[in-house]
Amino acid sequence: MRLVLLGPPGAGKGTQAVHIARAFEVPRIATGDIFRENVRNETALGKEARSYMERGDLVPDDVVIGMVTDRLTQDDATKGFLLDGFPRTVPQAEALAELTQPKGIDLAVDLEVPTEIVLKRLASRRVCVDCGTNYSTDVPPKEGWTCDSCGGEVIQRRDDTEDAIRRRLEIYEHETAPLVAWFMERDMLVIVDGTGHPDTVTGRLVRAIDARRHV
Ligand code: AMP
Repeated sequence: MRLVLLGPPGAGKGTQAVHIARAFEVPRIATGDIFRENVRNETALGKEARSYMERGDLVPDDVVIGMVTDRLTQDDATKGFLLDGFPRTVPQAEALAELTQPKGIDLAVDLEVPTEIVLKRLASRRVCVDCGTNYSTDVPPKEGWTCDSCGGEVIQRRDDTEDAIRRRLEIYEHETAPLVAWFMERDMLVIVDGTGHPDTVTGRLVRAIDARRHV
C-alpha cells in the first residue's frame, strides 16, 4: 500500500500514522520528524530547514521533494509506505505522482478535525524528542517528562507556540487544504472523522483503507 495521510496540524496524523503503518506493514515516512532529526543533529539539511520550521512556515518545495525522493528510493519503501506530512503543496503532490510512476498512490486519507479541537490539541501537545511519541498536558508520561516508550525527553515543540500555530493553520488552509480536492479529482481520496478516542479513530482509518484495498 502506498498511502498519504492528510489533515491539519494537530489532527492526530503522527499518532495515527504509527498505528496505520503497523497495521498495513509499511514504513511510516514523516517529513516533520526527518526535519526535526536533522535540526537536532545540525546537518546541512537541518540548518536549512530550521528557521522555516520555527516560524511555522513550509520548507521550500525543492528541499522537501529532494529529501522525500531519497527516502522513497530506500529498500524498505519499495513494498509501500505511509507518508505523514507530505505532500503539503500541489507541486509536492505532482512530484509524488511523478516519483511513484507508474503505480502512483493507492489512497490519500484526510483526517478531519474541527479547528477548535486542533487548537486545543496543539497548545497542550508534548512530544518525545527521540521517538516522536505524542503526549499532552492532560495525558503526560507516567514518570515526569520522560517518554514511556523509549526514555527520551518529552518537550513542547518549538513550533507549538501561539504565533507559529496560527501561521501553520493559515498555511494549511492556503497551501495544503487544496490537496483534498486534488486527490478527490483523481479518485484517490477518503475522508475520515478524526474526533474521538485515538483507538476509535484508528479503527475508522483501518476500515476506510481496507474498504478501498478490496475494491
Ligand atoms: P510536522 O511535524 O509535519 O507538523 O512538520 C513540522 C514542520 O516541518 C512544518 O511546519 C514545516 O516547517 C516542515 N515540513 C514538514 N513537512 C513538510 C512539507 N511536506 N513541506 C514543507 N515543509 C514541511
